[in-house]
Amino acid sequence: MKLESRHITVELGGWKIVDDVSLQVAPGELVGLIGPNGAGKSTLMRAMLGLRERAGGEVLLDGRDLFSMTGPERARAVSFLPQDRRVEWRLRARDVVMLGRYPHQSGLGGATAKDHAAVDRALEQVEATYLVDRPVQVLSGGERTRVLLARALAVEAPVMMADEPTTALDPLHQLQVMEILRGLADAGRGVLVVLHDLSLAARFMDRLVLMNMGRAICDGAPVDVLSDERLAEVYRVRALRGEADGRTWLLPWESLPRA
Ligand code: ADP
Ligand code: MG
Repeated sequence: MKLESRHITVELGGWKIVDDVSLQVAPGELVGLIGPNGAGKSTLMRAMLGLRERAGGEVLLDGRDLFSMTGPERARAVSFLPQDRRVEWRLRARDVVMLGRYPHQSGLGGATAKDHAAVDRALEQVEATYLVDRPVQVLSGGERTRVLLARALAVEAPVMMADEPTTALDPLHQLQVMEILRGLADAGRGVLVVLHDLSLAARFMDRLVLMNMGRAICDGAPVDVLSDERLAEVYRVRALRGEADGRTWLLPWESLPRA
């Protein structure tokens, strides 16, 4: 399914936190939403999901207004890993992942064999099967992130949005998560990911949308978006780069003085 946001604007306290942002994610595409702290990435993502009020703009799934769909229909179409990893309920990890199957259930029947299989697969993918019986509150930050990512994976939605999925993960699990997201896109899903790690963004993404101060200022291939000039201008960093395995790598190297 093709995900499209058109002219999304979000205002808070008289400020345009998100200002006229349009972007597209086609099936098979892994798109990174990047930008400095406070650029408006999370606000845009939440507005695209209807979790944050919009002052303007629309979100389309294969041309259909996302907000004309019923709640369960929308939840089956687009899965979401929020940036906030708090879990307020006293649940075991497995029950949290099962929440991802809720939009598939009729309400009366409860979880089916198919639901249990989807939960098992998702837990296996993020290597969190060993955590199933633990209360989510006792998990480490990285473990909780993986369990919540498993919840989003268990939805098996055609479109996935993830807000900083690699934050708080050790290097192995950062790479694993990126490989999982890459795999989803390669299998034909559309994936939109907020990322801070420019190395991972350069390495894994098909396309990057760069936000700064509420606006999408650039949209294109990672090598083009992450030019030396733009890194200096928007991020105030200088990066090293090179080639490995047929891809360019990038490593933010030093901060630059204020212009
Ligand atoms: P990002 O995810 O790119 O780091 P956010 O979308 O979380 O940024 O926030 C964008 C900006 O909006 C920030 O400057 C933040 O302080 C501001 N903001 C977010 N929520 C509110 C709110 N409820 N009231 C006022 N400002 C807010
Ligand atoms: Mg954010």
